[in-house]
Amino acid sequence: MEDTAIFDPKSWQLDDVQSNLCRKVRNLAATQFASRASGYDRAAAFPTENYQDLHQSGLLGVCIPREHGGLGADLKTYMLMASEIGRYCGATALTFNMHVSSCLWTGVLADGLDLDPSIRSELEQTRQIHYDRIIRDGAIYAQPFSEGGAAAAGKKAFGTTALKVDDGWVVNGKKIFASLSGHANYYGALCTEIETVSSELSRRNTMYLAIPADAQGVSVEGEWDPLGMRGTVSRTLIFKDVHVPHSAQLMPRGVYFKAASQWPHMFMTLTPSYMGIAQAAYDFTVCYLRGEMPGTPPVKRRMYPTKQLAVAQMRVMLEQTKSLWFQSISEAKPNPDRESLIRAWTAQYSVMENANEIAQLAIRTCGGQAMLRSLALERLYRDSRCGALMLPWTAELCLDMIGRAALYEPGETEDDD
Ligand SMILES: Cc1cc2nc3c(=O)[nH]c(=O)nc-3n(C[C@H](O)[C@H](O)[C@H](O)COP(=O)(O)OP(=O)(O)OC[C@H]3O[C@@H](n4cnc5c(N)ncnc54)[C@H](O)[C@@H]3O)c2cc1C
Repeated sequence: MEDTAIFDPKSWQLDDVQSNLCRKVRNLAATQFASRASGYDRAAAFPTENYQDLHQSGLLGVCIPREHGGLGADLKTYMLMASEIGRYCGATALTFNMHVSSCLWTGVLADGLDLDPSIRSELEQTRQIHYDRIIRDGAIYAQPFSEGGAAAAGKKAFGTTALKVDDGWVVNGKKIFASLSGHANYYGALCTEIETVSSELSRRNTMYLAIPADAQGVSVEGEWDPLGMRGTVSRTLIFKDVHVPHSAQLMPRGVYFKAASQWPHMFMTLTPSYMGIAQAAYDFTVCYLRGEMPGTPPVKRRMYPTKQLAVAQMRVMLEQTKSLWFQSISEAKPNPDRESLIRAWTAQYSVMENANEIAQLAIRTCGGQAMLRSLALERLYRDSRCGALMLPWTAELCLDMIGRAALYEPGETEDDD
């Protein structure tokens, strides 16, 4: 029997585009990705076959604007469809987010910014180059921004530099946890543009450059043997005097800084993978307690009050998480007011923490036989633990921002007392 939608189109009032896309992706992920997930997880291998399917289904360009040949999904539509992938393979959903962000940021998010006409026309030209590669050739883009310092949290300029030269830039630096490393065709790297090697680094000069994986000076190093999200293959990327042409820019200079300041909801794109995991852990538990889980003895456990209570607790947490997340992705827009921003951080925190809480309740409730590696639950549990660690909106940083924003009016300090 076909799985029901995480967000039932009627109840959540999805439009036809959202509803059709979610159905299409759910069918693909349920029939293809689900059975491959444990193999990728065990081998910590990139889900190459899933990307071939995504390309063949026309989904690699899901967030490329229609006038550029894509499906034109907006932020909310993307988030809904990506949660359906996360349900069946967390690593595919999380890496797909890195790829899709290269289209979402340069597409619908940039379209919502107030840009100078000359910058807008430059963006139109450069993004078409990248979109063509994705739609025509099935190119996959990664999104390495983490460096191990304060830059990924938005507190400092990126230490990876792009030295301006006549025909483009020379890039030097190191990116950690670069999902899709060794598997993406292009690394959409955030770097700081400099005029000379001794120029001071400024966040305002952030550049977003597509660095070809086979460019001279690009290398991947380090092991990848983590707790969860193993199929993301998030190894270390080194850029050593990598020469890229002008056409490498995904956004003209200054646009990323503007987008990061004006479109904060863009950082929520890391959540749908975990929204899907939360749903999957809940679904697993219901199926298991009903004695219907394939590969397990058909022993029913649903008649025990403790099991009913635990499932009720999980359901309450799942409904709370879904509602808050849905509200937040529905109201996402440039320059959100303070209440909307606090809700976005709260939604991010809730998805990341509750996915793990629901998964751990699922293990406790289903019991020992349910945590064997032959079943999906233990993978869901491990994958769910990674959500709270994703910068720039880690669970800790969300609490930090919520507390501060709730207690201080904009611009207020202790000196005002
Ligand atoms: C599965 C997985 C895939 C990933 N994929 C990518 C990817 O594709 N691209 C990418 O760029 N990154 C990726 N990341 C990296 C991720 O976003 C973080 O950058 C990474 O987890 C950094 O971990 P850290 O412990 O070094 O962070 P640290 O910077 O050492 O932070 C540790 C903790 O301290 C807190 N903290 C950090 N800065 C501050 C601050 N200024 N003030 C107060 N508290 C702070 C945060 O809560 C953080 O969790 C991935 C991570 C995982 C786990």
